[in-house]
Amino acid sequence: MKLYEQPAHVLHDMLVNKEITALELTEAVLARIDEVEGDVKAYLTITRDEAVAQAKAVDEKIAKGEAIGFLEGIPGAIKDNICTKGVKTTCASKILQNFVPPYNATVVEKINAANPVIMGKTNMDEFAMGGSTENSAYYPTANPWNTDCVPGGSSGGSAAAVAAGTAIWALGSDTGGSIRQPASFCGVVGMKPTYGRVSRYGLVAYASSLDQIGPLTKDVTDCANLLNIIAGHDEMDSTCVNEEVPDYTKALVQDVKGLKIGLPKEYFVKGMDPEVEASVRAAVKQLEDLGAEVVEISLPNTDYAISTYYLIAPAEAATNLQRYDGVSYGMREDGADIVEMMTNTRSKYFGEEVKRRIMIGNYALSAGYYDAYYLKALKVRRLVKEDYDKAFKQVDVILCPTAPSPAYKIGEKISDPLEMYLQDACTVPLNLAGLPGMSIPCGFSKDGMPIGLQLIGKALDEETLIRVAYTYEQSQKYHEARPQLGGK
Ligand code: GLN
Repeated sequence: MKLYEQPAHVLHDMLVNKEITALELTEAVLARIDEVEGDVKAYLTITRDEAVAQAKAVDEKIAKGEAIGFLEGIPGAIKDNICTKGVKTTCASKILQNFVPPYNATVVEKINAANPVIMGKTNMDEFAMGGSTENSAYYPTANPWNTDCVPGGSSGGSAAAVAAGTAIWALGSDTGGSIRQPASFCGVVGMKPTYGRVSRYGLVAYASSLDQIGPLTKDVTDCANLLNIIAGHDEMDSTCVNEEVPDYTKALVQDVKGLKIGLPKEYFVKGMDPEVEASVRAAVKQLEDLGAEVVEISLPNTDYAISTYYLIAPAEAATNLQRYDGVSYGMREDGADIVEMMTNTRSKYFGEEVKRRIMIGNYALSAGYYDAYYLKALKVRRLVKEDYDKAFKQVDVILCPTAPSPAYKIGEKISDPLEMYLQDACTVPLNLAGLPGMSIPCGFSKDGMPIGLQLIGKALDEETLIRVAYTYEQSQKYHEARPQLGGK
């Protein structure tokens, strides 16, 4: 395997054993960017000089005989809705095209303290609204397994970079599936931690009661290590839970004996791609052979999750995006008076999908419709959560597909918003409930596109997800496959 194809834990050992230097590794990843980024377009900003300087600093530390931590010298990338001091953070929107944050998000502070090499900021759907990265105001990102296909979204740039080897690890955000679904489309591991496990201070808000930051990595070991770094209480985020953070690497054990896995019948939906269903069911069989007990469960309100999410998320988005008014934040387009100025600004600099959601959200929140739509959605959200509460009395973890199909072609679905929203059937319900979810590779379609399975856990029980994911991962080879890109 090439250096850029290796997971962080392997590269860390190579650095410690002085088989490579951080500079060699960073240069290998930069060369990979030169080779394939023109086709993949995972990045919006590449911080080449800073990356080289960071790598050199780590090498000096190693030369002095100092010990290095897990992430030191390992190249990674940050989704462009996570604030990075002094580095442009656009949310893939024209309205923030010149926004350079004066502060770091808490996760960036934590990551920086771990001393990695940051390669840049990754592409995404504008303000994280979408599932294909086609809603980026700049350009779509391509799937490294087939550059005619979408990488998923909204963290499509992060997932594509990790899959293509233009980053070893990445951070994404997940409001309704934006870490897990691109992970599944790109054949990498992605985790949305429990709501409140990771600080969102400095994450540009989309829907605040749903947003979470999490890791995208090449395997489960890297995921556990990255979660160790970013999890934990933060006074700057009032929704961040004040609970001790376990050492997630302790959950990297190959043992699912006696563990109860629930298969929700409502997640194996009609219209699901038969190849996805077959791969997920084969993984279930594998886990059963490894000693897990599999039971069918029912989450009866699953059918309502999409409509509930597509009321609550736009309602919160409409509120959160009020700040882009030509005065407080972002670009400004002048007009005869303040109303015209705001109208001109928002009309010119927001993309179609963002405008659509602002309109849906404001409609759902408006005086005459609040009770019928927004309040009703909140009540259904409660029912969705209660389904999980009941299920978790019976099982330790829930397993289902991450997405109803493998990655589809760029342009295939984007003109039909409803069709796009329906793709989120398996991922949005757990955001509504605040639960942790994880996508890991479990196979390939006959066209060679990755397929992912999703694990859903009890609140703050990321450890069980990691344990099940690791046990499954180590029993097969899907996480070791790499896309053939750049004429290798
Ligand atoms: N696809 C979903 C949406 O469009 C989820 C996005 C996300 O998780 N940020 O809202």
